[in-house]
Amino acid sequence: MNVETPDGLKADVQVEEPRLYKAREPIFPKDVSGKFRTFKWRMLIGALAVYYLLPWMRWPRGEFAPNQAVLIDLANRRFYFFWIEIWPQEFYYVAGLLIMAGIGLFLITSSVGRAWCGYFCPQTVWTDLFMWVERKIDGDRNAQIKLHSQPMNAEKRAKRIKKHAAWLGIALATGGAFVFYFADAPTLLWQLITLQASNVAYATIGILTFTTYSLAGLMREQVCIYMCPWPRIQGAMLDQRSLTVTYNDWRGEPRLRGLKAREAARTSEKAVGDCVDCNACVAVCPMGIDIRNGQQLECITCALCIDACDNVMEKVGLPKGLISYNTFADYEAQSKGDHRPAPVMQRLFRPRTLAYFGVWALIGAAMLFTLAGRDRINLTVLHDRNPLFTQLSAGDIRNGFTVKALNMIPEERRFRLSMEGLEDATMVVAGFDDEPGRAVEFDVAPDVLRSLRVFVTSPNAERRREFAFRLDEITATGELGETARAEATFYGPGR
Ligand code: SF4
Ligand code: SF4
Repeated sequence: MNVETPDGLKADVQVEEPRLYKAREPIFPKDVSGKFRTFKWRMLIGALAVYYLLPWMRWPRGEFAPNQAVLIDLANRRFYFFWIEIWPQEFYYVAGLLIMAGIGLFLITSSVGRAWCGYFCPQTVWTDLFMWVERKIDGDRNAQIKLHSQPMNAEKRAKRIKKHAAWLGIALATGGAFVFYFADAPTLLWQLITLQASNVAYATIGILTFTTYSLAGLMREQVCIYMCPWPRIQGAMLDQRSLTVTYNDWRGEPRLRGLKAREAARTSEKAVGDCVDCNACVAVCPMGIDIRNGQQLECITCALCIDACDNVMEKVGLPKGLISYNTFADYEAQSKGDHRPAPVMQRLFRPRTLAYFGVWALIGAAMLFTLAGRDRINLTVLHDRNPLFTQLSAGDIRNGFTVKALNMIPEERRFRLSMEGLEDATMVVAGFDDEPGRAVEFDVAPDVLRSLRVFVTSPNAERRREFAFRLDEITATGELGETARAEATFYGPGR
């Protein structure tokens, strides 16, 4: 591009086009030991064990219902969760659970910061697992950097093949475990092995294998930084008393590297902070950031830098906690010399956390209450549209209805269908031998919706009369059990 210089000369200047894409710079996090790393391992093992093993857990429900403890039975439109069975019309329980999970996430974030991101998020858990595999094959940070910088040779090729094969194996197991939540796991496993499973099952496994491999193996921290909306949302949930991983610069600065330099600085009475500038906190960070630069969107608060720094502090004989979980309010006070820790109660019980907890507990209690008292019987009634009524030769009026009786337990039950109101009417059910009457009894198989064609006849020709169908369970001892009601209308030609 030609530009004019201040002294009036013409110059040809090369202007670099702004680039919208920046290639990923690989991160080689160093292994670290410490209390937070141990906690992370425990969370990882627990989360993976639950995810992979849960579909294999059995839960006896009798011969008419699946015996898989957790099952999303799409074919029969049912969700089984241990002793709870959710039907499509009870989907509000699932919606309630999702709302509770969302509010729970708000509660956790406002009390202990991004704990979800650091310890429980599937992206964190699987990335951690993939990094563990990588360390087992390529070695720790220094060996990985060396391997990365060396040209492709037999050793590097062999390690690459081994690593990617292991990653693909884990990714395949992850996709495989997911589909087991949607069908009887042992049956589906056999169908998958013998190539008899549905195309949907193979496609789902393929997609999840690809996403797990690419997100946890290849993209890693980029998912958290560029793809996940949560880091942006969580900013609104944090306040002065939320815990975050903090570099206590009031204690660490001015940082100075080298024991001799530090000794010399002290001798000459120069100010020197506790940070020995060893970069251990940077080397262990899976996000590749330096926590000493302050709070950053990239920080998932995994606390591995706390472990790294505590180990260094222990070695150099300084108190631990140069990097620590801290609230902004405490950090501010400590910066001004006030080192009294805020009471834990004050940290946890704040208007914001109490409000989140209140809403969360209220929804949970309402769900438990309705779940415990819900009926396992349902009745729906649909009036015939065309014709609305029929006039019989004797002059009586007849209305037709489709009545659906739902037995929501895995046992056969006997029901009685009767009418409330419409005292002058009788009813018959198509296919039943009963004489016209006010009630009819029938059986409904386990977990089945039985549909009946019911004809109600009345000598009264009024244009419109309201009444109700009532469905009663008749228990084995002959007593009445659960009940359901459905409003209905009886139409006539009018007087
Ligand atoms: S800065 Fe520390 S807490 Fe944040 S992601 Fe890195 S290691 Fe984890
Ligand atoms: S690990 Fe601790 S001492 Fe080392 S650079 Fe980080 S903050 Fe400083």
